[in-house]
Amino acid sequence: MVFNVNILTLFPDMFPGALNDGITGRALENGLWSVNAVNIRDFAKDNYKTVDDTPFGGGAGMVMKADIISDAVESIQPRGRMIYMSPRGKVLNQKLARELSSEENLTILCGRYEGVDQRVLDHYEFEEISIGDYVLSGGELGAMVLIDSCVRLLDGAVGNDETTLNESHENGLLEHPHYTRPAVWSAPDGSELSVPDVLSSGHHKNIDEWRKCEAEALTRENRPDMWQKYENNG
Ligand code: SAM
Repeated sequence: MVFNVNILTLFPDMFPGALNDGITGRALENGLWSVNAVNIRDFAKDNYKTVDDTPFGGGAGMVMKADIISDAVESIQPRGRMIYMSPRGKVLNQKLARELSSEENLTILCGRYEGVDQRVLDHYEFEEISIGDYVLSGGELGAMVLIDSCVRLLDGAVGNDETTLNESHENGLLEHPHYTRPAVWSAPDGSELSVPDVLSSGHHKNIDEWRKCEAEALTRENRPDMWQKYENNG
């Protein structure tokens, strides 16, 4: 199954953009996913290619027009699950990324300006998804984050699928620290920094235990919210 993503945007040239590199780029080349960026401006109805208008009720900024977005939406088939990138949405997490990565088709609407006329969101029952509690200038970067988080979970995208199963957020914990050669690194200030002994011991049970302890300590320190849930789940 190919993971097909339609993007409704005023900046179609942004796609695949950064997604053309690394794991997502390889997966695109290997046909694991596809991207179809639709230019909302192509559906504008006047010579000025207007896609926005002033908000009813007054106030600053412009709002993207329902009729134009609707025409852009109607041009796409099949649409699958419909997502509006929005700082008002539920926050993207690993569980949601896993869920979305099992869809065959996604249609992602990227807002600009003050956002989109609410009627088009209601009519098509767009699901609002945020990538975090801050405001971006547009939905495109958020869409890329969402797509990246899904694509790396597709079968065959990451060399060893075990890797994604052990990553941060998969089991309620952040991931343990990693080390690679040299076993002793001479830092620029002259200090000699060694790898924890247990990692070169070859004792797999002790290594697993060490990694779990480190993951727990990191989670407790950096994400008390996650730690609370992890402890409650026993
Ligand atoms: N006026 C809107 C508000 O306060 O909720 C913010 C509009 S923002 C300047 C323009 C567009 O950027 C939004 O329509 C949305 O598509 C996108 N966007 C901004 N922040 C985002 C976030 N945290 N996650 C996902 N998309 C975001």
